[in-house]
Amino acid sequence: MVKLNENYKKLKVNYLFADIAKRVKDFQAKNPSLGIIRMGIGDVTMPLALPVVSALKNASQEMGAKETFKGYGEYQGYPFLQQAIKDYYTEFGVDLSLNETFVSDGAKSDVANFAELFSEDNTAIIPDPVYPVYLDSNLMSGRNITLIDGNEKNGFLPLPYSGLKGGIIYLCSPNNPTGAVYTKAQLKLWVDFANKNGAVILFDSAYEAFVQNPELPRSIYEIEGAKTCAVEFCSFSKTAGFTGTRCGYTVVPNDLKISGESLNAMWLRRQATKFNGTAYIIQRGAEAVFSKEGQIAVKNTLNYYRENALIMAETLTKCGIWFTGGENSPYLWLKCGMDSWEFFDLLLNKINVVGTPGAGFGKCGEGYFRLTAFNTKENTIEAMKRLKSLLS
Ligand code: PLP
Repeated sequence: MVKLNENYKKLKVNYLFADIAKRVKDFQAKNPSLGIIRMGIGDVTMPLALPVVSALKNASQEMGAKETFKGYGEYQGYPFLQQAIKDYYTEFGVDLSLNETFVSDGAKSDVANFAELFSEDNTAIIPDPVYPVYLDSNLMSGRNITLIDGNEKNGFLPLPYSGLKGGIIYLCSPNNPTGAVYTKAQLKLWVDFANKNGAVILFDSAYEAFVQNPELPRSIYEIEGAKTCAVEFCSFSKTAGFTGTRCGYTVVPNDLKISGESLNAMWLRRQATKFNGTAYIIQRGAEAVFSKEGQIAVKNTLNYYRENALIMAETLTKCGIWFTGGENSPYLWLKCGMDSWEFFDLLLNKINVVGTPGAGFGKCGEGYFRLTAFNTKENTIEAMKRLKSLLS
């Protein structure tokens, strides 16, 4: 009889957001007339920008004409999008070669798949709390995991410490769920640690576009030495509303070698075997994100979400609630002072607002709660009004 991957038994029964969706669905079935405001799953509400929509339309038309139809594309993405990504990185003073960028259908799959390049007897170093994909994908492969604690003392930004051992380090900045952002000096500690110990950093920069403070890094390659130890994963999902359109990219520097082997060459080999590329139409849409008009539109949307974050931050401050995030990130991470699933139920039942219990992101998330700024302004104002009345 076929044998199962027993490692799946180590996972929680449901993926966190599937769990939340089920609870909300059950609640709604019992209370169909109540208007629920969703600030739980980090999905966006603003539509695609017009320049993106028109690029998608044009590309669809190209696909319908014999002369311009495209079949299978390049494994690493079309050069027009690779070039646009390369140009975007020059904004942070980072110089990339075209072959260092890999276009994908999103950061989630790449960040989960990339660890395939490493032996399963490596230990993964994973911050707690953090985006659940890093932990779950390593549990699935049966790897040993060392969790490093984020807490109020370290601002939810754990740093390397003496005696820390592991080959694969996951970092997420701006962080999901805490909204905390590593400074350049803090990232330098991680880069030095990885280079010294022959470890690799898998750096998730899905929320880099939310960074407003020019002193804070948006790419790990702003840090000297990162190109010999770090892979970066980024996404159009939150920057440009591509959660349903699906596109992201991964940067694997040519200088990144482990035991003399190029990770860039290995990742290309892996992609060529297991991935047939991102749709041409979608890549044209993603290219439009980087156009002059696209950037203006995308920045307007980011500002819209930032205003929501500000409204939320003001409410939490007025209510005397401790929180991080919101300024350089779409997430606000607040101290709920009780079991975080109880707080979830309280908010759902009493004010019909959905957030994400901190416990879902790791044991250090217990006692905290995540709210997102991705809803509409009207809903954000209404949710904060309800929260204020509940807490007072
Ligand atoms: N990385 C982080 C930290 C995220 O929070 C998310 C989505 O919530 C993703 C990656 C997923 O990105 P994508 O939609 O490109 O797969």
